[in-house]
Amino acid sequence: MNKALRPAVIAGNWKMNKTPEETGALIKEIAPLTENAACEVVVCVPFVDLHAALTATGGTSIKVGAQNCHFEASGAFTGEISAPMLKSIGVEYVIIGHSERRAYFGETDITVQKRTRAALDAGLTVIVCVGETLEQREQGITRELCALQSKIALQGVKSDELGRIVIAYEPVWAIGTGRTATADQAEEVCGWIRDTLAELYGRESADGVSIQYGGSMNAANAYELLSKPNVDGGLIGGASLKAKDFAEIVKATNR
Ligand code: PEP
Repeated sequence: MNKALRPAVIAGNWKMNKTPEETGALIKEIAPLTENAACEVVVCVPFVDLHAALTATGGTSIKVGAQNCHFEASGAFTGEISAPMLKSIGVEYVIIGHSERRAYFGETDITVQKRTRAALDAGLTVIVCVGETLEQREQGITRELCALQSKIALQGVKSDELGRIVIAYEPVWAIGTGRTATADQAEEVCGWIRDTLAELYGRESADGVSIQYGGSMNAANAYELLSKPNVDGGLIGGASLKAKDFAEIVKATNR
């Protein structure tokens, strides 16, 4: 298993935080601290902050992402934003299927699949989130669940599109709780997800896909998590709102 086969991606999920003005200020803090990053650095900001983020990241290598997109390109979908709209303003990444969207906004494996397809068609790179609840972990179905979520999300995704797929393994019980999966737990599930990708696309293609861990990753635990062979990067919530902590996580990908 060779981590050099795939890019490490550290993405900040800012969730529903920061105004456009605050966005510009935080990116100005993050940019110099992540200048020589050994990984792809992404900030996924609220829709209203995208313009400010694109302006503030100009001249840096930081990429901008959204936190969701609709699966139709346009039409009567009040309050929604489409993938081509995101692409048209210069957004490169989009998070799809975050557990908060699954839990609070009726996101299902099928809508995750449709949004993933739409985002790829628009030319975006997709961070597809999968992960089990505490109850599912205790039932011993983590492996099957993550395999099923991954398989449904990737239905119809061709192997030559895998370069624009990042899988984020996010155990629901670890998100925003301060309770991180151990490095061994993260490695075990990321390895299972890679096995699922190998089942679908072959081992060589699977080895080229970047898999993130997400769930209370912070400056203190990032090194151990990211040292694991199948944990390529991170999807970072709380710690991505603190420039120094986020930059420390970015540094931890140095391998
Ligand atoms: C997330 O929102 O994807 C996340 C992992 O949040 P946190 O780092 O705050 O647990």
